Amino acid sequence: MDTYGRFPLELVKGRGVWLTDREGRRYLDAVAGIAVCTLGHSDPVLRRRLCRQLGRLQHVSNLYRIPEQEALAQAITERSCTDRVFFCNSGAEANEAAIKLARKHGHLVRGIDRPLILTAQASFHGRTLAAVTATGQPRYHQGFEPMVEGFRYFPFNDIAAFEAVLADAEAAGPRVAAVLIEPLQGEGGVIPGDPAFFRRLRQLCDEKQILLIFDEVQIGVGRSGCWWGYERLGVEPDALTMAKGLGGGIPIGALAVKAAVDHFRPGEHASTFGGNPFACRAGLTVIDEIERRGLLAHVSAMGALLEELLGELSQRHPDAIEAVRGWGLLRGVVLRDADGIPTAPELVKAAMAQGLLLVPAGPRVVRIVPPLVIRPRHLRKLVKRLERALQSLR
Ligand SMILES: *Cc1c(COP(=O)(O)O)cnc(C)c1O
Repeated sequence: MDTYGRFPLELVKGRGVWLTDREGRRYLDAVAGIAVCTLGHSDPVLRRRLCRQLGRLQHVSNLYRIPEQEALAQAITERSCTDRVFFCNSGAEANEAAIKLARKHGHLVRGIDRPLILTAQASFHGRTLAAVTATGQPRYHQGFEPMVEGFRYFPFNDIAAFEAVLADAEAAGPRVAAVLIEPLQGEGGVIPGDPAFFRRLRQLCDEKQILLIFDEVQIGVGRSGCWWGYERLGVEPDALTMAKGLGGGIPIGALAVKAAVDHFRPGEHASTFGGNPFACRAGLTVIDEIERRGLLAHVSAMGALLEELLGELSQRHPDAIEAVRGWGLLRGVVLRDADGIPTAPELVKAAMAQGLLLVPAGPRVVRIVPPLVIRPRHLRKLVKRLERALQSLR
């Protein structure tokens, strides 16, 4: 169906940070399948482990114990503030699980009949009906009303405004079950969370036993230079969702929770495919390889270099570039909203002609989310090609 505005580009093979199209042209990939291909394309270790898993077992269903799933849950909980994991197949599905958990928390812990979930404006939580309702961007709601009931929105990083929305929601007694929020807004424009805002949010949630859920679908699994975005804020959530980077290209999503809010009982939530041996082998391999190759430190170093190179670029083009922001290997170049300055989609298209793949995050922000294995020479090439693309439009 006609759900995507696609580029007329057919990529037929990849290796590391490089992709090749049908005509044999090569592209430096700063998209990574939108923050998915953690280890780059055709990673030999991932390929070997997945081939071996295919020769053993792909899928059995959650009717039975799945050792690969148990091992991946252990790998996630050992590296995060959480204790238990539910597996599914995508970011939206992970957030759906979180929304159901939040409602149960509202009923069970706060005694609320019709619980509310608070989410941020300009957020992105996915496209299924509840996840898209949670997404605080009206353009994603248009045409699909009525939205799911029980959501209210607050401006990101604005604690006074958040307190006002919370006070209004709770004017007649407990109503709020959870806050669902990204530590860094990805799709909404690569906007890092403010640690002071998040610390106060944590306090307010603690005072009222409101569940604090972080959507780490984009920033989680190493992209920030830490395992989780919340480490950059110094604030722990009660639950976190992940997906994109976890499988290195194999679909997998997860909701991880602290034991105290592990409210699901057998039969209350499920997924046929969720956590099957094949997808969990991919997740296990990604986590193993991030550790074995020291990719967290590598992402921090590459993020710092990219920040420096983009800073120099913006100094050379102060009339076009308003700001550069982000964490680790999730960076946004903010273009000025002025005459003669390209929009993000225009710059992405021009970059493609220079052999560089980028993805917009809204109309004025170009997002850079390469595989975590990217090297300094690639980053220099990336910024050079980005500059050539910018110059080609001016
Ligand atoms: C991409 C994304 C989602 C949705 O993930 P899908 O796998 O496309 O359903 C949810 N939240 C965030 C923060 C995302 O970046």
